[in-house]
Amino acid sequence: MYKLMTAGPTEVRENVLKARSMPFTNPDIDSDFFDYYKETCELFEKALNTDNEAFILGGEGILGLEAACASLTEPGDRVLVIDNGIFGKGFADFVKIYGGEPVLLTFDYHKEIDVSLLEDFLSKDSNFKYATVVHCDTPSGVLNDVISISNILHKYNILSVVDSVAAAFGNPLDLSKGHIDILCGGSQKALSAPPGLTIIWVSKEAFKTMENRRIPIASFYANILAMKNYYKDKWFPYTMPVSDIMGLRTALDNFLEDADVYKRHSEVAKYTRNAVENMGLSLYLESGFSDTVTVINVPEGYTDTYILDKLKNDYNILISGCFDILAGKVIRIGHMGENAHMEKVKEVIDALGNIIKR
Ligand SMILES: *Cc1c(COP(=O)(O)O)cnc(C)c1O
Repeated sequence: MYKLMTAGPTEVRENVLKARSMPFTNPDIDSDFFDYYKETCELFEKALNTDNEAFILGGEGILGLEAACASLTEPGDRVLVIDNGIFGKGFADFVKIYGGEPVLLTFDYHKEIDVSLLEDFLSKDSNFKYATVVHCDTPSGVLNDVISISNILHKYNILSVVDSVAAAFGNPLDLSKGHIDILCGGSQKALSAPPGLTIIWVSKEAFKTMENRRIPIASFYANILAMKNYYKDKWFPYTMPVSDIMGLRTALDNFLEDADVYKRHSEVAKYTRNAVENMGLSLYLESGFSDTVTVINVPEGYTDTYILDKLKNDYNILISGCFDILAGKVIRIGHMGENAHMEKVKEVIDALGNIIKR
C-alpha cells in the first residue's frame, strides 16, 4: 500500500475501517437506524454550528453538487456561477443539465474571490435564483470566503450553493455567521473516511424554494426534497449504505474529539508552503491558500509524471497531479484530516527535495 498524500481520498484511521466491517442492520426496516442516522446528522449540524438540517446521501461528493442543482433549477432559471477554479466553473454543467441558464462570473484563478467585485457585479445584475461557489477549489487549492459571499448573495435574495467537499473539517467554517442554503461535503477529504458519501446542510429557504417549484424535480436519486421527511415517515428514497455510514460516524467522532484539528491543519499547511518555497519551487497561488492542500508549479526541466512516478516508486508515496486546464502544470500535496500531521508532510517534503535535487 502507498502512503496516500493526495488531495483526497486521504488516509483512513483504523477505527473507521473497523466500523465499516461491523455487523449491520436493515436500514429500511429497523427504526433504530433512523435514530442513528438522525443523531449522526445532528452531530454534523453541531460540527458546523448551524440550524440548517444535515443529510447523508448515498453517493460520492459529486452527488451533492448535482443534487443541489437538480433540486433548485427549473428550466429557464438564471443561475450565477461564481468561477475562480475548475470545480467552480464546472457547476455550469450541472445547471445546464437541469435546464437552467448559467451566467459565469469569472475571477483570477490565482487568488481568492474579491468580494467587493462580486458586490459591484450584483449591484448591476442580481436577477438570479441561486448562485454557486466553491469553498476550496482543490485543483488550485484556493480558499474562498464563502461566509461573506453568502451574506452578500442573501442581501440580494439569491440562494447560495457552496461546494465545501475539500474544505469543511479542515478549514474553520461557522455556518451560523452566513446564509449558505445548500452546503455540500464529502466523506473522503478532511473527514478521512473512504469515498462514497455526500453530506449536505440545507436551509429552510432552500426547502421552501424546492416546494414552490412549478415543475417537479427532474431526478429521483438527486432529489433533496425526497429526503426531507425521512424521519417522520421512516422512509428513505433508497436503501442507505449502512456500513459506509457507520464508518463516516466514526470519522466524525474522531473529528469532534480533536480539539486542535484546525490549528493542526493551519500549521501543517504553513509548514508545507514554506518548505516548498525554501527548496526553490513555486506555489501556484498568489493568495487565498487553503489549509487542506498545497499546489506547486511543476519546475522547469521536470514533468509532473516524472516527479509523481519517482515519489511512488522510490518513496512509496502518492500525491496528486491535476486535470483540465492545470493538467501537467502542477502537482498537489494533500494535507487534510488524517494527513494533517507534521511527520507525514515532512516525509513528502524530504522525498520531493531529493527528487528535485537530482
Ligand atoms: C473531491 C472534490 C469533489 C468530489 O469530486 P471527485 O472529483 O469525484 O473527487 C467535489 N468538489 C471538490 C472541490 C472536490 O475537491
